[in-house]
This record gives sequence, C-alpha cells and structure tokens, in this order.
Amino acid sequence: MTPLDKLIAYFEKFPGIGGRQAKRFAFHILTLKKEQLDELASLITSLPQSVSECVACHRFFSLPRQSSSGLCPVCSDSSRDRSKLLVVSRDVDIQAIERSGVYDGLYFVLGGTVPLLTTTDTNSRLRTPAFRALIADKLNEGLKEVIFAFAINPDGENTTRYMENVLKDIPNASIITTSSLGRGLSTGSELEYADSETIKNALRNRH
Ligand SMILES: [Zn+2]
Repeated sequence: MTPLDKLIAYFEKFPGIGGRQAKRFAFHILTLKKEQLDELASLITSLPQSVSECVACHRFFSLPRQSSSGLCPVCSDSSRDRSKLLVVSRDVDIQAIERSGVYDGLYFVLGGTVPLLTTTDTNSRLRTPAFRALIADKLNEGLKEVIFAFAINPDGENTTRYMENVLKDIPNASIITTSSLGRGLSTGSELEYADSETIKNALRNRH
C-alpha cells in the first residue's frame, strides 16, 4: 500500500465518509503548501495533549479551560441544573443540544448504541459501568431525571430500553424518572444534524 492509499484508507474510516470523499480529502492534502501540511500534521499529533476527556460526562474538551478536578466546563459549572442528566451516544450530539440553548442540566456520553436484537452489552466502547458509577454519585447531588437522547431509529430505541434496565438495577435509582426525546425529531434523525428549533421541541415534548 502506498502512503497515498494508506491516507485514503484512514479517511474512509472517518464517520460518514465514503471512498469517494476519502479520495477527495487525500487529493486536497496534496494541494496544500508545506507550512499548511506541517500545521495540519502538528494539530493532529498534539491533539491528545490539548484535549482531555471529562472524568464525569466523558465528553472531550480543550485543556486550557480544564479545572484541576478533570471536569469539563459544563460539569464544573455550578449554575447547571444537577437534577437532570441527558445521555447521548456521541460527543457531537452534546454540541447540537447546547446550540439549542434550551437544556441546562448535565450530560453523559455513552460512547455508542446497543444494536437492535441485542440485549447485552456487547459493545465494549459503551460506558455502562461509568454510567452506573455516575448515577450513584449524582443521586447524592439531587439527580431526579435521566433523559435518553439517542437517534430516533431502531438502534436508538433499543439503547433507551437497554439503559432503562441498567438504571433499574442501580440501588436507590427508583426515584429517578426517565424520559426520551419526544415529538419534533423525525424518524431516523440523528441529533447531530437536527436544527436548534427541532431539538428545543423534542426536549420540551420529552416523555
Ligand atoms: Zn463533563
């Protein structure tokens, strides 16, 4: 495999990127000047040092704003409503919800979904143990509601059912009410691409 083929293969693994787009990216890189190439390469290699994963919600955040606690700006913001926790499958979904400006609670990034027809945690990327630990912790801080905000598709709905069962098994968690995003989001829609107005409505109509 030539270096160019390898680069194309890397881009093909990116979410939502097909073979044709991967080639376009690689050929675009060929048109960059030496300084641009150096900057791009150093941005990529320095990312692990400049970004950290929040110890509570597991979202990624840029380090200059890091608190000594390892918490992201949302988790360390005392004005956020600690009675609500919204669970998303991916980091990018949080950005979509924050853009809508209608949610003021906390988040948790599950790291994936549970595919339809599976009832067990076969996806090792899922942070189910971290979710259990966080809920136990947040119960002491007045957590009352967990909102599951997965994509409106069979996998998303299965993940909600799976996580509701996980929650049921947590001691003392029976006082927590659960809800999922309601009307407004159309079937098959991914939060990442939903506009702010749609997310606002889905949150207001959660059930
Ligand atoms: Zn956080």
